[in-house]
Amino acid sequence: TDYLSQVLEAPETAVEKALRPLSFADFSGQGKTKERLEVMVGAASKRGEALNHILLHGPPGLGKTTLAHILAHEMGASLRLTSGPVIDKAGDLAGLLTGLQEGDLLFIDEIHRIPKAVEEYLYSAMEDFRIDIMIDQGPNARSVRLSIPRFTLVGATTRTGLLTAPLRSRFTLQTRLDYYDRATLEKIVRRSCKLLNVAITDDGAAEIAGRARGTPRIANNLINFARDFAEQRADGEITGSVASSALELLEIDRNGLDEMDKRILRLMAQNYKGGPVGLGTVAVAVGEEEHTLEEVHEPYLIQEGYLARTQQGRVLTPKAWATIGIKPESASGQ
Ligand code: ADP
Repeated sequence: TDYLSQVLEAPETAVEKALRPLSFADFSGQGKTKERLEVMVGAASKRGEALNHILLHGPPGLGKTTLAHILAHEMGASLRLTSGPVIDKAGDLAGLLTGLQEGDLLFIDEIHRIPKAVEEYLYSAMEDFRIDIMIDQGPNARSVRLSIPRFTLVGATTRTGLLTAPLRSRFTLQTRLDYYDRATLEKIVRRSCKLLNVAITDDGAAEIAGRARGTPRIANNLINFARDFAEQRADGEITGSVASSALELLEIDRNGLDEMDKRILRLMAQNYKGGPVGLGTVAVAVGEEEHTLEEVHEPYLIQEGYLARTQQGRVLTPKAWATIGIKPESASGQ
């Protein structure tokens, strides 16, 4: 696997944990989402009620888990973290839910990957705070009703379109996280360096922010590597040229594209005349999981205008052709 999917799909590291903002005041960017959440928290606290259910959507590494922590912190409640693929039986869900206290938050990452059979139990849990579960089998089978404390479900997913309509409709707020602009990322980079006690110049921060694909998790990871690089190959300070050399070593270019991104673009150009081509075909050809292409590489390539999604499949844009330096008319296709 490549650098990006390693960063974006790996569990959180201790350093990342230390860098996580703990309050809204400390969380930069995502203005609309932040304001919507602040309003809900303010109102729920004032009424002394649990927060309504919230769905956060957007690409990985933008702060969905961080916001769940902040919500719990601001509500003075506890947070339980789990993820869709982990809850594979109704019993697992029942166990999680009945273990909650009044007002607690349950964060389900990749909520679109909850098995269908389990998802249905979530409906009554979210709506009526109860769950009817079948115990035993055959003639002894019977349904037992469990009541659940009033909790808040915070769901996270990369795209709302991946959720079924009945599940989606049970969230009071659905709000989208977008890639961060460069100025906000620079601010995040400077904050992280301060917390880590890393010396960085303005040029260094700009260089890292410019190549971090609008993603704080990537920015934090690049800081870590640039710090090591600065200690080994320079005098310890992350300057513009130190950052630039460090990122070259990681094969992340000026536009934040890594080797896998470029392999995808080149493959589509050389073998498929720029498409349309299905994601599964691309995944097999570049030797990467379809899931990783869809969650890690494709959203950024689309956002930055290298790829377009059509009914027939993915197609390269003129910007992509220019970036890989191949002329569309010279591509042979298969
Ligand atoms: P997601 O759940 O969307 O994949 P996370 O909440 O795990 O993303 O965020 C990844 C990392 O990026 C966190 O460890 C956190 O330190 C950092 N981060 C995310 N959003 C921000 C932000 N707005 N300001 C500062 N750091 C952030």
